[in-house]
Formats: sequence, C-alpha cells, structure tokens
Amino acid sequence: MTTSMQAAVWQRPDAITVEQIPVPEVPVGWALVEVEYTGICGTDLSILHSTHPRAQAGIVPGHESVGVVADGGTTGLAVGDRVVAEPLISCGHCLACRSGSTHVCRNLKLYGIDAPGSLADYVALPASALHVVPAGNDRRRPSRSADHVAEWASRTPKCRVSVGEFKSRVRSGLANQRLTRPDASG
Ligand SMILES: [Zn+2]
Ligand SMILES: [Zn+2]
Repeated sequence: MTTSMQAAVWQRPDAITVEQIPVPEVPVGWALVEVEYTGICGTDLSILHSTHPRAQAGIVPGHESVGVVADGGTTGLAVGDRVVAEPLISCGHCLACRSGSTHVCRNLKLYGIDAPGSLADYVALPASALHVVPAGNDRRRPSRSADHVAEWASRTPKCRVSVGEFKSRVRSGLANQRLTRPDASG
C-alpha cells in the first residue's frame, strides 16, 4: 500500500495547490477510503476565498464524497465496499447529541474543515460516518445519494418528512447552491 498521496491543500485566500502528502493514519474504528468523487459546494468556495470562519490554512477540503474502502481496519467494512461519507463530526455530549439529533450538535464540525477532507486520493473516516452504497447506484449523482438517505430517514421513527418532500428539499438546495453566493453553511 502506498504511503503518500496527492491532495488539494488550501494555502491562503484563492490559492489551493496539489501536494504530495502522507496517506492518513487509520485509527481503531476508522476506515481508509480511496476517493472516487468529491463534490464542491459553497462551503468549499468560502474556504477558498478565506471567508469561512473556521478553516485554517493547510487543510485538505472536501466533505461530500464517495469512494471505495481501501483498508477497513476494525470497522467490519470490506476492501472494495463503495461508501458515501456523512461528513458531520458531532460531539456526542450535548443535548442534541444525547437526544439522537447529532446533525444539529451544538459543537458540530465537518471533515474537510476541522479535519482532513476528501479532495485527496484517500480520506480516513470513522465507521459511523460511512454508509455502504447500494449496488447499481450511480456514484456521480448526489441526488441519488439523497434518494437513499431519504429512504433510510423515512424508516426512522422520529422522521416527520416524507421521502418526496425530503428529495424536493435536497434538490432545491442543490439548485440554490448554484444561484446564491457561497456562505459559511455546510
Ligand atoms: Zn453534540
Ligand atoms: Zn457542503
């Protein structure tokens, strides 16, 4: 297994360079993912333009990605499993996290901002952030991922949003991202 990889590194306002850097370490409970596709959203543009409130120079951006497992470590994921990454880093301790709403954690962070992201050959992520992509899914279409998230969410007891409404919200959000200025949202 190679020990170095190419990665996009944000250096300073409006300057990202491609660097050769070490392949990330894989802590216990994490997996190493060989990145196939990474989306670029308004948050990434705000990092590039240095208007994001938390991004620090030297970070590898990228938080919307799909890839295949290169090293499953102790996660139970198999080499070659195609996974989509849930980029949220939740604290696990705040009221939102303790009530199961980790996506609105008061201390919410993201891979690609607060930890190395996926604009790289490889990204290391905890098993909790990885979801196996069903066979046959077109990995290049984020709306397809939204479809699967919607199907999954609709089966959880606390979800009050219908599958159709969720897809519609996601797609309008994706459409809006092309029309609005980048901001600091995720
Ligand atoms: Zn929390
Ligand atoms: Zn984003």
